[in-house]
Amino acid sequence: QTIGDFFDDMARRQGARDALVSAHEGRRLSYLELQRESNRLASALLTLGLAPGDRVGIWSHNNVAWVLMQIATAKVGIILVNINPAYRTAELEYALNKVGCKALVTMPQFKTSDYLGMLRELGPQRLPLLQHIAWIDKEGAGDEVAGVQRFSALLAGGDPEDPRIAQIGRTLKATDPVNIQFTSGTTGFPKGATLTHRNILNNGFFIGECMKLTPEDRLCIPVPLYHCFGMVLGNLACLTHGATIVYPNDGFDPLTVLQTVQAERCTGLHGVPTMFIAELDHPRFKEFDLSTLRTGIMAGSPCPIEVMKRVVDQMHLSEITIAYGMTETSPVSCQSSTDTPLDKRVATVGKVQPYLEVKIVDPETGAIVAPGTSGELCTRGYSVMHGYWEDAEKTREAIDAEGWMHTGDLATMDAEGYVNIVGRIKDLVIRGGENIYPREIEEFLYRHPKIQDVQVVGLPDRKYGEELCAWVIVKPGQAATADEIRDFCKGQIAHYKVPKYIEFVKEFPMTVTGKIQKFKIREAMKQQLG
Ligand code: ATP
Ligand code: MG
Repeated sequence: QTIGDFFDDMARRQGARDALVSAHEGRRLSYLELQRESNRLASALLTLGLAPGDRVGIWSHNNVAWVLMQIATAKVGIILVNINPAYRTAELEYALNKVGCKALVTMPQFKTSDYLGMLRELGPQRLPLLQHIAWIDKEGAGDEVAGVQRFSALLAGGDPEDPRIAQIGRTLKATDPVNIQFTSGTTGFPKGATLTHRNILNNGFFIGECMKLTPEDRLCIPVPLYHCFGMVLGNLACLTHGATIVYPNDGFDPLTVLQTVQAERCTGLHGVPTMFIAELDHPRFKEFDLSTLRTGIMAGSPCPIEVMKRVVDQMHLSEITIAYGMTETSPVSCQSSTDTPLDKRVATVGKVQPYLEVKIVDPETGAIVAPGTSGELCTRGYSVMHGYWEDAEKTREAIDAEGWMHTGDLATMDAEGYVNIVGRIKDLVIRGGENIYPREIEEFLYRHPKIQDVQVVGLPDRKYGEELCAWVIVKPGQAATADEIRDFCKGQIAHYKVPKYIEFVKEFPMTVTGKIQKFKIREAMKQQLG
């Protein structure tokens, strides 16, 4: 089955029930309305001259237009390219040209960012393949923009009964590409992962199963749609279970999340750890009735046990789970279910999902390691991407001849099958033959009363091969010395784990998705040390 087939079937069954509530736009669409509008858009895209296999970009925060694009493109075999709203001209130019986007749907502006201005700046010289641009207008409001169509006008030109939609639909296969998503760029340049209907439709379905979603559920999605977290764990998990998608805002804002959960009586809430922290710590947190909440997912980066506990205790999210995955695997490969005992649910990323395989191997020999021993997590099954877009070499490096995706993440698996992520291989430090997991040192240093945030990396060293370096952000109004921090470590952690270099900084280099780029910390230190 394709996403279009599955969605049409669900629309028939759910009819007038809520499919989508976009709180910040004040819009509400039933399953039948969402079906009709996405058919209208599919027809309009074909009328523009787009055809199956063409790439079309969406460069926007979460809104109704985004979901319409997701369903409409899938129905007529157009490949949707998710573009991060935080991208600026150079990143946009790279992404659009890399995959050859013929059309782009975008917001006109957001806060201080002028999206149409950035496109004008690049112009046809630097975006030679881009033929059509549409801007998402608020139902006809706003001035006309020369040479750029309104999304509402594009939509109005489509026919929801267009027979071409069903004709093309019949020719599509589940193994056809439907989506290109860029990785976050945590370890280097973002890579475009090509994903098929089979990849993401199945993953969305099984994520919804783990969460036990039903048509009664209303899932609040503050995470961005341009990333698989919003698009698959959010939209597709809901649409495959007849549940309701709820967008509190465009761009993240903790207060509107709390307001929307209460107003829409949401039963689920997604977030990366920092979002949950911002919601819990909001000065008005106690004012809101969040008692309708039941389930949700925390994912994307290491999920601190303390935060999981607070979310369960203070936000009523008694069935929340942690998911682990990566863009290249649609994304989720491990997730606990709402039935998993709480201690396992807060401290591990759960077990392998149905119909997928996970193994932990010695990165050198490829042999499966003993339970509890750390090694590289590899996964195989329906979720593994088609490949990196037009990059056979990188694809071969990532997916081996037997179909295993090598994730580059270090993990352990216990005898019961629960998986723990211990860090990335690229971040593992080997000092004088001892393996050191930077995350362990970071968790330890977090306990220092003056430390607000800390990142630990390895630097090349002639004598030991590598030496540890910690970048520390101290709490506001505090001052600390390197010796003070080293003294704190002494007697508490093994001597070889005590960082040789300790630097005090104001911020860390981050990706646009908010992940910390350790490779940039290493580069900066290498320059500094000469
Ligand atoms: P790039 O591949 O461009 O360097 P990236 O790997 O950060 O960037 P994503 O695909 O967005 O891009 O993120 C996947 C990675 O996020 C995983 O490989 C893993 O390192 C990390 N991750 C995801 N979920 C979890 C989790 N629950 N716990 C710890 N780490 C996680
Ligand atoms: Mg990655």
